[in-house]
Amino acid sequence: MPGRFTFTMIKPGAVRNEFIGPILAMINEKKFHIAAMKYIWLTQKEAREFYSVHKGKPFYESLVEFMTSGPVVAAILEKENAVEDYRKLIGATNPIEAEEGTIRRLFAESLEKNAVHGSDSDENAINECNFFFSKYERFPMEDLK
Ligand code: ATP
Ligand code: MG
Repeated sequence: MPGRFTFTMIKPGAVRNEFIGPILAMINEKKFHIAAMKYIWLTQKEAREFYSVHKGKPFYESLVEFMTSGPVVAAILEKENAVEDYRKLIGATNPIEAEEGTIRRLFAESLEKNAVHGSDSDENAINECNFFFSKYERFPMEDLK
């Protein structure tokens, strides 16, 4: 059964362009609950570790530089089938290939500066949520009822 949580970041480019509000509005519209959220400036160490699967690739250094160029909004999103549904909402990695109406199509500047991150599997979602949030910083829907 697919998990109920995914992890997202609104990347520095979208923050600089004042797209935090519009992106969060789309997230809420699609009925994702924001279970955790913080506004932070990633350290070099955090960015390197977060994108360590891409270490050695030609875009890695530039990606780390971009991800540490300003603050990001990090959040845990809750919904049935969260990982797949959120990847659908954000669209393809390359905004040129992203479907009309997706977050990346609307707000990305380039393949690198592509507005948002979204976990690509339940396993990575769990790891990424744990990377950024302690259990005391999470407020899933169940706790609010
Ligand atoms: P993310 O992990 O950020 O959600 P993704 O899973 O769609 O994106 P990945 O293949 O994991 O894509 O790449 C991670 C990030 O690295 C991309 O979101 C993008 O910012 C950057 N990136 C990926 N491929 C390239 C590339 N060829 N050139 C420049 N940047 C790239
Ligand atoms: Mg990825």
